[in-house]
Amino acid sequence: MTTTDEDLAVDLLRAAPTHENRAEERLRAWARIALAFGDELAATPDPLPAPEIAEVLGGARDDVLVLAEYDTRVRTILVRPDGISRAVKVLMRAGVSVTAGELRAAAVAHEVAHHRMHRGEGRELARRLGHTAFRLGPWRIRGHVTGADELAAHRFAHRRTGIGHGPLALTAALTRHTFGG
Ligand SMILES: [Zn+2]
Repeated sequence: MTTTDEDLAVDLLRAAPTHENRAEERLRAWARIALAFGDELAATPDPLPAPEIAEVLGGARDDVLVLAEYDTRVRTILVRPDGISRAVKVLMRAGVSVTAGELRAAAVAHEVAHHRMHRGEGRELARRLGHTAFRLGPWRIRGHVTGADELAAHRFAHRRTGIGHGPLALTAALTRHTFGG
């Protein structure tokens, strides 16, 4: 049986504490919406100006593995070379061969998706997810679906970089093997 991106996405959503008791069908519907949104985002050109990219130390502590992150305050993608080289080693042990360059490209693309969603395109994802946190008379308060933007960013990175193992599969492998694995 092969694991699809959608299966991996459902697993990732279910790993969030807020989702652990949600119905499979609900998670699957959200996963499909988020992945399709990532596809669409990747198919449209990035608006200017592009985010800055800076390399920073850290990213590979005992309890955390960070490849890159997006600093919304200064609109900069912070790449963590230590985290990337640790991830390459962990993946190699897990039997997944990926180069530091491929991983870096995927990590940067992932953060470009966060940059775009943060700049406004994320509102459309929230609208499509349509998760109503609660209703009060005529008011509908839209809840945040934890993890949906991660799924969209992973799919965006997969489409943009075309690396063999998609970021969703890499993330699943990293999660299984990073800590005490
Ligand atoms: Zn992310």
